[in-house]
Amino acid sequence: MTLPASSDHRRQELNRVGQVDVSGTAKTDPTGQGKDKFVTASLTTLTFAELLKRLNSRDISTVEVTDAYLGAIHKLDERVHAFLHVDRDDAIRQAEAIDQKRASGQPVGLLGGLPVAVKDVLCTQGQPTTCGSLMLKKYVPPYDAHAITRLRQADAVLIGRTNMDEFAMGSSGENSAYGPTRNPWDTDRIPGGSSSGSAAAVAARMSPLALGSDTGGSIRQPAGLCGIVGMKPTYGRVSRYGLVAYASSLDQIGPLATDVHGAALLLEAISGHDARDSTSVRQPVPAFSQSFEQPLAGLRIGVPVEHFAEGLDAEIEKSVRNALAVYQSLGAELKDVRLPHSKYAIATYYLVATSEASSNLARYDGVHYGHRSEQSGNSLVEMYEASRGEGFGAEVKRRIMLGVFSLSTGYADKFYTKALQVRRLIRSDFDVAFEQVDVIAGPVTPTAAFKLGEKTSDPLAMYLSDIYTISANLAGLPGVSIPCGLTSSQLPIGLQLLAPPFEEDRLLRAARMYERETDWHRRLPPLAGH
Ligand code: GLN
Repeated sequence: MTLPASSDHRRQELNRVGQVDVSGTAKTDPTGQGKDKFVTASLTTLTFAELLKRLNSRDISTVEVTDAYLGAIHKLDERVHAFLHVDRDDAIRQAEAIDQKRASGQPVGLLGGLPVAVKDVLCTQGQPTTCGSLMLKKYVPPYDAHAITRLRQADAVLIGRTNMDEFAMGSSGENSAYGPTRNPWDTDRIPGGSSSGSAAAVAARMSPLALGSDTGGSIRQPAGLCGIVGMKPTYGRVSRYGLVAYASSLDQIGPLATDVHGAALLLEAISGHDARDSTSVRQPVPAFSQSFEQPLAGLRIGVPVEHFAEGLDAEIEKSVRNALAVYQSLGAELKDVRLPHSKYAIATYYLVATSEASSNLARYDGVHYGHRSEQSGNSLVEMYEASRGEGFGAEVKRRIMLGVFSLSTGYADKFYTKALQVRRLIRSDFDVAFEQVDVIAGPVTPTAAFKLGEKTSDPLAMYLSDIYTISANLAGLPGVSIPCGLTSSQLPIGLQLLAPPFEEDRLLRAARMYERETDWHRRLPPLAGH
């Protein structure tokens, strides 16, 4: 069996950004305005409000902004490996089109020329969409996912495709077939996963915004471990059309951003009904980007006892409790709430998610979809086996086997059906809690970012890093992760806020109330100081 070496793939991709000068300005100045190279340093570290203001007033061009971020990718991504594919010329072309639109006085969309990095799980016409897997190494979709169509309509610049755990299965980024992403705060450590590249790209200011997908925590957990804002919307808020499916009843697409403002903008751009996803909900989309600054009076915050129990690192607990104290000082009321079935959340998730995955991934057999082995054998079954054997990595195979088992005759009632019943109880716990409180707050993860390789041989230990995020997916609720501290070794700590279905507006406003009082979101990993 000969598999393409991931380093070859990497080199090939780096070549695509090879025309960008290390200083961050293109060798051939695409703006023709000859701005000095220091423009880069300030542009990529500007706040959202400032970046948008300067774009809209035409003080800076979309090409300049795009070029600055491409420069940061060129300079930093060799160390971080957040991107799987960057097509510089295409990004600059998109930016030029937006600049022309502005120059001719046409209205410019909500994202106004801001770059967005896209997790490699969202089909994008003409761009490789590998899902972090060798199975889809050669896949170039002929169509755009709904979220991508929305980004184009909102005048975003699609700046690159981000690395991820294979088929979004993982919590560390280490399951990517193309090599792991590293945490910009400490490159010996993992950035979280599965949206590893999206989180690392935003944390290192290689893009101000990114899209991820969250099935059990894959936006919130890496956002927490990388010190940025990440949001999983309510199930049904964002169309999954064109999102390569992992576990369809849990998957949601959502924003990662340097601050709450960015998350509000990106969420607003991608939300809304789409007839091509039967689970997409007909709900009006509030103007999140207009309302996020409004504080919530009389906010009641639920503190789930189960999320502060054994296993929570002391430094994380301290920072999260400090964040709760900030809310109290703003007039919020704290109340203990109970989520008694949350102790079953991981077990329930790994039955529901793997069952759905085993069905969703059945299509990759080398005939319908995906990698076809050269060693085709003597029969159709042998060809399927060889293709799936080569195309899928170990974690994906483990999950397919678990899912097939849990759905099999004689076991389905004991495992899959039982898991669905417990899932209902987990949702009911939240319904009861939300009768007394407006949001629920707690840690995003039990520990800060761990070292690469630390948990790869122990899948159960790895699965535990999603212990606080997974319940929101099982219950279909929206959740946001915001930076709330640094450990003594300078690793980010995240605060998670959860709300009832379709209350993203409440969540963003609550998140912003805290953000305004602190400067954690302005802290940069040393590597991103450019
Ligand atoms: N870490 C979880 C898993 O491995 C969640 C992944 C996700 O949200 N996509 O399945």
